[in-house]
Amino acid sequence: MAARIIDGKIIAADLRARVADEVARVKREHGLTPGLAVVLVGHDPASEVYVRTKAKQTEAAGMASFEHKLPAETSLSDLLSVIARLNADPAVHGILVQLPLPKGLDSQKVIDAIDPAKDVDGLNPVNAGRLATGLPALTPCTPLGCIILAKTVHASLEGMNAVIIGRSNLVGRPLVQLLLNENATVTISHSRTRDLPKVCKQADLLLAAVGKPEMVKADWIKPGATVIDVGINRIASTDGKGKLVGDVDYQGALSVAGAITPVPGGVGQMTVACLLVNTLRAACAIKGIAAPGV
Ligand code: NAD
Repeated sequence: MAARIIDGKIIAADLRARVADEVARVKREHGLTPGLAVVLVGHDPASEVYVRTKAKQTEAAGMASFEHKLPAETSLSDLLSVIARLNADPAVHGILVQLPLPKGLDSQKVIDAIDPAKDVDGLNPVNAGRLATGLPALTPCTPLGCIILAKTVHASLEGMNAVIIGRSNLVGRPLVQLLLNENATVTISHSRTRDLPKVCKQADLLLAAVGKPEMVKADWIKPGATVIDVGINRIASTDGKGKLVGDVDYQGALSVAGAITPVPGGVGQMTVACLLVNTLRAACAIKGIAAPGV
């Protein structure tokens, strides 16, 4: 039987609609308009597209969007001054610095400078540490999206064998903590893992965040497993335009997996929706009102 397709487009649209409802409520009841500032340094075309999408969806949810576009030659001290201004700005509840930064700018110093209360990307060590110790934290958006997608298939992830491929701060590491919070049994694998296919085959829930086109083959997947494909890779296509594929051989996996996210139209859709969730949560926490019901 062919795998069930986990439709990130529909699930993300539903989440954005729920965020918009909650934004309308906090505006009405508390006079609070959540605000997200996005900082883009340089002219990376993919980053420009992401930033435009984020601004559009932020406004569509009823929140304020502030864009700061800085030239590629911006110095670290000038960038840190922008962050300091945003940290102090009461209309801004979320700050996102679009990565990667141009060569020569130390992204860790920039991430460290963001007020943890406004760190909607969840990359500041304070939030990463809070997440790792089981405290409430702003959590990276892509892993949050992965959990929401997995839970559309399984009401509970408790006791499931979850295998993550990739150990980045952006995806793999926070996924470990989020899956532990769901009471899954978690294995994290990476470029030095021995016999990766065998490790993957143990997974009831397989999450691939590697950045290698179609690396995970059908015979790595346990029959009936749920597969969440985080990878976004551009490869050559016959029409010369190139096409996007994930880290999983999607066509092969369809006949083995129980459920699978497509690329595009899977995890990528959830990342921006979860950014809106984080901005709303940050705004409520800063204002001292109850966490929103999303
Ligand atoms: P990264 O390069 O920071 O990390 C990749 C990880 O994969 C590393 O931990 C590395 O150990 C592991 N790895 C590399 N080669 C491997 C191999 N042969 N076998 C096993 N593990 C291997 O990447 P990232 O930022 O975590 O992103 C991973 C992928 O997810 C990329 O394709 C990226 O474009 C995509 N991504 C998508 C979204 C989204 O919104 N859908 C968000 C973030 C990242």
